[in-house]
Amino acid sequence: MMTLPCPWCGPRDREEFRWRGQAHIVRPARPELIDDEAWARYLFARDNTRGVAREVWHHIYGCGGWFSMERDTASHAIKTVYGMHDTPPTARS
Ligand SMILES: [Zn+2]
Repeated sequence: MMTLPCPWCGPRDREEFRWRGQAHIVRPARPELIDDEAWARYLFARDNTRGVAREVWHHIYGCGGWFSMERDTASHAIKTVYGMHDTPPTARS
């Protein structure tokens, strides 16, 4: 059984969560000024990381909270959990 750490509820069964994709995707400030290719990249292009990735998770069958997590996609080792709009703790120095 895999357990994920909700920042508000603590460790809970993975089945209570939904993976919502790559974290820190920034919407273009002026979409009307970019071409279709750049818009398509924003909408659809995502990293396919083997190793530590930053992801958004939703505690859908718990508190309903959204948060970001650094997780090793190969080993499933969780590095850190932080707010969706926060700077990843491992990026701070
Ligand atoms: Zn929760």
